[in-house]
Amino acid sequence: MNYFTLNNETKMPMAGIGVFTFTPPEAQSAIESALKDGVRLIDTANAYMNEKATGRAIRNSGVERGEIFLVSKLWPSVYEDEDAVEKTLARLDTDYVDLLFLHQPAGNWKKGYQIIEKAYKEGKVKAIGLSNFSIEQIKEIIDECEVRPQMVQVEAHPYFPQTELKAFLAKYGMGLMAWYPLGHGDKSLIEEEVFTKLAAKYGKSNAQVILRWHVQSGNVIIPGSRNPKHIHENFDIFDFELTQEEMAEIAKVDKNTRYYNATPEQVAAYADINPPFDTQE
Ligand code: NAD
Repeated sequence: MNYFTLNNETKMPMAGIGVFTFTPPEAQSAIESALKDGVRLIDTANAYMNEKATGRAIRNSGVERGEIFLVSKLWPSVYEDEDAVEKTLARLDTDYVDLLFLHQPAGNWKKGYQIIEKAYKEGKVKAIGLSNFSIEQIKEIIDECEVRPQMVQVEAHPYFPQTELKAFLAKYGMGLMAWYPLGHGDKSLIEEEVFTKLAAKYGKSNAQVILRWHVQSGNVIIPGSRNPKHIHENFDIFDFELTQEEMAEIAKVDKNTRYYNATPEQVAAYADINPPFDTQE
């Protein structure tokens, strides 16, 4: 396993599992399977409505809480709630999260950031992140915050490697966590010729080559899978290394295109979506 060192000296695993779109039983089963395979990084969110199942999976696994790097995200509808972090911890059945994101730059995100900063000072949150924020919005936080964010979570994959954002984050010692690391399973990305060629060379799958490219590019990855074989495979990427020439060859598939293009109006409207977080199974 490779680790990424955050700007507050915390170390986090570079590969884990994400449970976006998973029902509670699916999330619980996928996380239990991942923890058995040695995965120690889990990415969930208030809005995924599976935080309680995530907490159950951790408890059932028998793995010590301190060995797991647990990540969640506050949804915009709770950015002004003073107890938003405590309610998140209660659902996850834990005293702290290792990394807590603001999920979207919508609603009163400056107040949301202050709530996470307070929780950071109280030891309830060990690192702070921003998800789906633009460079301009990240700059605003950096200029005004007391605790500089450690991590940014955005869509990133070989079709959209986030070159400009990465250069910006490097200046501030902030890391990038890639969502849709496998292009949300898009076959045209996974089956690009260069990945098929390198998969044959290293005796790996195309998905493993893509995930290895991420890690060598410095990205933390949280691929999603309900399939135990894929969960195992997605973590088995630390016994081979792509050469510089191969990394350069992969860079050529960059199309500068995202899968998810939200308009500013769509992002702003996230603040009006108020999921019933506490009713989840
Ligand atoms: P992904 O790129 O990880 O792709 C997942 C899909 O790829 C799966 O449905 C599966 O069909 C396929 N897949 C997985 N492993 C495979 C393998 N080894 N071989 C072949 N196919 C494989 O996309 P995702 O799951 O949607 O995103 C990953 C995680 O990113 C989410 O679970 C979530 O934690 C995070 N995320 C965050 C945001 C955000 O706004 N912050 C948005 C989307 C996703």
